[in-house]
Amino acid sequence: MITRNELKNTVFHTAVIGGGASGLMCAGSFDRSKIILEHNAKPGAKVSVSGGGNCNFSNRFTAPSDYVSQNKHFCKNALAAFTPQDFVHLLDEQHIPWEERSNGQLFAFGAQAIVQWLVRRAQQANTQILTDTQALDVRRENGLFVVDSSAGPVRAQYLVLACGGLSFPALGASSFGVKMAQKFGLSVVEQRPALVGLTFPKELREPFKRLAGNSLPATVSCGKHTFTAPLLFTHEGVSGPAVLQISLYWTPGQPVTLNFLPEEDANAFLHARKNTCKTFTAALRGKLPGKTASTLLAGLPDDLANASRATLEEAARRLNRFSFVPAGTAGYTRAEVTAGGVDTRQINPSTCEVRSVPGLYVIGELQDVTGRLGGFNLQWAWSSGFAAAKALEKKF
Ligand SMILES: Cc1cc2nc3c(=O)[nH]c(=O)nc-3n(C[C@H](O)[C@H](O)[C@H](O)COP(=O)(O)OP(=O)(O)OC[C@H]3O[C@@H](n4cnc5c(N)ncnc54)[C@H](O)[C@@H]3O)c2cc1C
Repeated sequence: MITRNELKNTVFHTAVIGGGASGLMCAGSFDRSKIILEHNAKPGAKVSVSGGGNCNFSNRFTAPSDYVSQNKHFCKNALAAFTPQDFVHLLDEQHIPWEERSNGQLFAFGAQAIVQWLVRRAQQANTQILTDTQALDVRRENGLFVVDSSAGPVRAQYLVLACGGLSFPALGASSFGVKMAQKFGLSVVEQRPALVGLTFPKELREPFKRLAGNSLPATVSCGKHTFTAPLLFTHEGVSGPAVLQISLYWTPGQPVTLNFLPEEDANAFLHARKNTCKTFTAALRGKLPGKTASTLLAGLPDDLANASRATLEEAARRLNRFSFVPAGTAGYTRAEVTAGGVDTRQINPSTCEVRSVPGLYVIGELQDVTGRLGGFNLQWAWSSGFAAAKALEKKF
C-alpha cells in the first residue's frame, strides 16, 4: 500500500477516479503507473451484486441499438473494439466459468470471481488501488491533473473519470463525476433513474396493492417500444423485467400500456366463451391468476353469459390495453442504472478522451450511454474502459 508521503511525491501516469467496472477494466488493460481512487472499502461493489450475485457480465447479441444516448452512434467504435467475445476470452484464460442464459445473457457463477480477477489484473498492470479514499475535487496544476482526495492530493498526467451513475447510493454512487465534468465545461444530459420499477398514479395504488408480490408474463409498451417478459406487481406499482426494460424509454407524462393476455385478442377470447362460461372469472381461469383477473375487472358485473357488448369491450380493453400514466419511478435507490450523464458529443468515441480537455477521459455509466437490461451496461463499462486504456497506453 502506498504511504501518504509516497503519494505526495509521486506523479502517476494515470489517475482513475472510481474502482468500479469501467475503472478496473481500464486500469487492467494497459501497463503504466496508475492509481485508482475508490471511496468504498472494496472495489467493484456493483459488479459484486450484479445479476443477483452471478454477474450478468455481457450479452452475446450486444449491438449499438441496445443503448440509449442522445448520440446514438457514439458507442459503435468502443463496442466493436472490445466485444462480448473479448470479455469471454479473458474469462476463459482465467478459467472463470460462465454460462449463456436466455436472450444471449452471459452470466458468471458468482460475481466475486470476476471482481477478484479484475482487481488482480489491474494490480498486475502497475495499478495502486486506494480504497476508503474519496475524490473531493479535481484541478489542473503545472500541466498535471491534481485530484484532491481524502488521502491528500494525487498528481497524474492523465485523468479518467469512472465514477458511475447515481443509482444505488448505498453502493457508493455519487454525483462527483458529473460535477467534475461540469467543472471542466462539459454539458450533461439530464440524469434519471432507469431499469427501474414504475409507480401507479394515486387512484390505482389502493386497488392494486393486494397484488403486490404477484408476477405474470405481460407485454409492456411505451411509445414505439414493446417488451414481453415477466411483470411484477409491487406495493407502489409495477416492476419485473418487462417494466425495467420499458423504464429506459419512458419519460414523465407518457402513458404505459400493459397487455395481460399478450397471446390473445381478449375480445375474441371472451366472445368465444360467452356460451360455455357463465362468468369472466371462469373464462379467464388458467389464463390469468384469479386475483389479478378480479382486480383488473373490478366494478364490472362478473356475468359473461349476459354481458353487453360495451362490458365485453371494456373487459377486453383492461386485459389487452391497460393504460396508465405512471406517477414516477421507484427512484435511484432501486434503479439498476442512471440514464443520461456526460454528453458524449464532447467525447472522442474511439478513445473516450474529452475533446476540449486533452488528457481527460470519461468512461462507463457516467457517460450518456445506457444499455437495456441483460448484461449491456457492464459490457459498456468494459468496452469504454478498454477504449480509454488503449489510447492511454500510447501516451508517455
Ligand atoms: C443492483 C445492481 C445490479 C446490476 N446488475 C447488472 C448486471 O447484472 N448486468 C449489467 O450489465 N449491469 C448491471 N448493473 C449495472 C452495472 O453494475 C453498472 O452499469 C456498471 O457497474 C457501471 O460501471 P461504472 O464503472 O461506470 O460504475 P460503477 O461500477 O458504479 O463504479 C463507479 C465507482 O466510483 C466510485 N466513486 C463514485 N464517486 C467517487 C468519489 N468521489 N471518490 C471515489 N470513488 C468514487 C463508486 O464507489 C464506484 O465504485 C447493475 C447495477 C445495480 C445497481
